[in-house]
Amino acid sequence: MLIIMSREATLEQIRGVEQFIESLGLRAHAIPGESRTAIGVTGNSGPLNTAQFEELPGVVQAVRVTKSFKLVSRETKPEDTVVSVGDVRVGGRELAIIAGPCSVESREQIFKSAELAKQAGAQMLRGGAFKPRTSPYAFRGLGKQALEWIQAAGREYDLPVVSEVVDHESCELALPFIDVLQVGARNMQNYTLLEAVARAGKPILLKRGPAASLDELLNAAEYILSTGNYNVILCERGIRGFSDFARNTLDLNIVPAVKEMSHLPIIVDPSHGTGHRKMVAPLGRAAVAAGADGLIVEMHPDPDHALSDGYQSLYPLQLSGLIESLRHIAPAVGRTL
Ligand code: PEP
Ligand code: MN
Repeated sequence: MLIIMSREATLEQIRGVEQFIESLGLRAHAIPGESRTAIGVTGNSGPLNTAQFEELPGVVQAVRVTKSFKLVSRETKPEDTVVSVGDVRVGGRELAIIAGPCSVESREQIFKSAELAKQAGAQMLRGGAFKPRTSPYAFRGLGKQALEWIQAAGREYDLPVVSEVVDHESCELALPFIDVLQVGARNMQNYTLLEAVARAGKPILLKRGPAASLDELLNAAEYILSTGNYNVILCERGIRGFSDFARNTLDLNIVPAVKEMSHLPIIVDPSHGTGHRKMVAPLGRAAVAAGADGLIVEMHPDPDHALSDGYQSLYPLQLSGLIESLRHIAPAVGRTL
């Protein structure tokens, strides 16, 4: 159920509706918009009677939301959500570029990566400390030590940092160090993890599962919003197809589809989406042209000796070239960089 308040509704009237919702044992989510506030109702197992809400002062209309996701939908909030991470905005006019290595490998490597990412024009730094690897014998990340190093590197170069958490324990460990908690593709439907990261209160980068539908991605995001955390950035990172020349099939179709159905920002990961360095820049450009709010790109100071995903990591100069070319594409789609 979505309760649309009148443009003139007072704060007291909004609070009154919230209290009424809570008195029914349900949860109220007030979502202020440009012209009016909408209040989402969650927690009901069956349909609610609209009339009981429409009688309350300040209410224009109560609308049943038939989809399983509500808070993430455009019906609930017509205006785009802009997620703020320090001074960086994701989902506004300005594109947000996140760059850095797949994994944090050493203090020196992440500091060099931060310096190069900054020079190239990136706004945030990525680097994994807990790596969910396909093989248990592959490099699994340096854990807490990596978190300390990436935080220090981000501070040194004034770049907010993004890193993946894989369970409750890594989430707790990462909290003091990381600005955006990434939920990886393999964990998109790990619902207890989604609720744990949501409660942590930091912005979340939610990657699409390799076999997840649009509906499943939006429902996964709904888990986070329904826990009270509205700062979610969606990420397309490629799905399993039958391509025999790329690691995944980057599904850029989802960008305009998300834009129509949801107010949440969506960025694209052309590194995992293609798995090949030479494909990263072309697909990154295509993503921005398709309306993505930004990119997350793997870049390593020395990709040939990277401990993970070296073959898809850009050389530093390739990152600068990509960002430079995006400066030409951005204005054509009404964006800045
Ligand atoms: C990553 O970003 O390093 C990563 C493991 O990505 P994904 O979850 O999309 O595979
Ligand atoms: Mn990687």
